[in-house]
Amino acid sequence: MGEVNILVGLSGVGKSTVLEEAMLLSDRDYEVINYGDRMLETAREEGLVDSRDELKELDTETSKKVQKEAAKSIVEDSRENDIIVDTHAAIKTPYGYLPGLPKWTVENLDPSKIILLHADAEAIWSRTQGDEDRDREHDSPADIRQYQKVAREMASTDAVLTGAYLKVIENREGHAQEAAKKLVETLRG
Ligand code: ATP
Ligand code: MG
Repeated sequence: MGEVNILVGLSGVGKSTVLEEAMLLSDRDYEVINYGDRMLETAREEGLVDSRDELKELDTETSKKVQKEAAKSIVEDSRENDIIVDTHAAIKTPYGYLPGLPKWTVENLDPSKIILLHADAEAIWSRTQGDEDRDREHDSPADIRQYQKVAREMASTDAVLTGAYLKVIENREGHAQEAAKKLVETLRG
């Protein structure tokens, strides 16, 4: 049975970038699973959607069902491999923030470590301005700061629910490699 680790952070904080660097540095093998991708695969298999855009349009109840199924399939993978899940602790919706890892997913995933990647709101702001293919999720640096606060609270709750370690790693501008090194050390410890 492998272990499950969860990497969370706002969109644009650099999770995918830092993970890619970390996997080059690590002497242990991990299966990296993007939760959104896994949800899309799950929903496709069940014939619910064809595209990522359709996934976002699902009604709340169906979406939660897919979220739960995706967690189950990650648990299946953890029988074979050590896992790192790339996901969001909080998801911003027009109705309010939704937990990315509600009780009925995170208890199933039973993570050893929850790692929260952090960067300055201004850095996240500028990192998300250039990308054409990225959703304009953030309205302003102030909006990002509020989102970060809620996401940290939700990540803490996930740690309390599961007894996982909660580690915060800073992804400084121009120093993704340094964050990757810290991530590898955290995973190893
Ligand atoms: P999402 O949740 O939307 O997938 P993410 O957290 O995976 O976002 P990335 O796609 O890894 O974020 O990074 C967002 C942008 O920030 C990319 O253009 C990336 O090259 C840049 N970036 C990541 N880390 C740093 C860093 N330390 N310094 C400067 N730019 C960075
Ligand atoms: Mg990413």
